[in-house]
This record gives sequence, structure tokens and C-alpha cells, in this order.
Amino acid sequence: MIIDVSQQLKEPVGSYRHYRISESDAPPIYGEVDLLRTDRGIFVSGTLNTTHKAVCSRCLSSFEQPLTLRIEEEYLSKAEEGAFTIGEHQEIDLSEAVRQYALLVLPMKPLCSEDCAGLCHRCGHNLNLGPCDCLTSYLDPRFALFQLHGCRRNQGDFEKIPIFPSEGLYRTRKRQGKDRPFSALNPRPFLTES
Ligand SMILES: [Zn+2]
Ligand SMILES: [Zn+2]
Repeated sequence: MIIDVSQQLKEPVGSYRHYRISESDAPPIYGEVDLLRTDRGIFVSGTLNTTHKAVCSRCLSSFEQPLTLRIEEEYLSKAEEGAFTIGEHQEIDLSEAVRQYALLVLPMKPLCSEDCAGLCHRCGHNLNLGPCDCLTSYLDPRFALFQLHGCRRNQGDFEKIPIFPSEGLYRTRKRQGKDRPFSALNPRPFLTES
């Protein structure tokens, strides 16, 4: 992502250029920047969109996290500690700025999607791929509520169908349309903590 500023550097302070950035390489970077000639170099401002390889904090799968970066940075003609510098061929390379700004906006707990169902607490199955067999296996009556709580919160859109309730045997079924009284993000009130 290199912009040739040799012409603009010959122009007086205050001269202005607008650039549209579109790079499809990994990671893709697209957006628009304004370049303003200053007495020390070029001031770059604009908004760039990119993606960053992340691991979902709920289901542990990797995905491309979309990031929007609001860049404001002065590139100096003369090298200075801690500042971006205009290259020797009179060009500005935005890659390093994008890398640094991306680190600042990365979420602490990335999510592959807002309603990621996460992993089953018992078997580790990725519940985004469908229910696991945990609810069809025997539920220890002493821990049944706890076990159901864990699986319900994670499974969200799946409901428990009794097979032999006296034996603690159930199977799961995906809830349909308006039959979905709660979701992974909106568990039943009596099942929430506190
Ligand atoms: Zn996820
Ligand atoms: Zn499970």
C-alpha cells in the first residue's frame, strides 16, 4: 500500500490529494485517505477497512475479524524517533500504520458471530455445527440442572425432548420459528446467574 508523494512534496504547504485504496491481497485493505502537505511532510487521514486473523473466544474457530481503522498520521520528510517517515523514493507506505492501528482496535474477546453458540461444556463439541449427544446421555439427577443449564445456554435454539425422563434420557431438537423462547444470548430468566 504505497503512495507516491514525489509530486505533492514539490507543492506548497496545504496542498491536498484524495486517494481511494483498494488492495485485495491478504489482508485486504480498502477505504479512502486524504493527504495534506505540511511543513514537515505529509499528513495522512482517512478510514481504512481490513481484516485480521482471529480465534473466536467462544467456539475457538479461526475467522477473519473485520476492522475499521481511523488513520491520522503525519509522515515526516526527515526521520524522527517514533514517527512515520516518507521513504527515500518519496513514497508513503501505509502498511505499518495499518498494522499498528489494527492492534489498537482488536477486540479483547473476538466473536466469530454475535450469536456464536460456543462449545459444549461437557464434550467440547462446536454447537454452531448442531447439537451434541450430551443431552441424550444419562443426566446425573444431582447435577441435572447444572448440566442442562450449561448445555441450554450453549445450545440456545435446541430444546430437550424426553425419551425416558425417569431415567434422565433426553434427545435434542432444533427449535422452530416462534417456538424459540430463548437463545444462547438470551437464556431463560430462571437459568441466568445472579
Ligand atoms: Zn465462535
Ligand atoms: Zn456435549
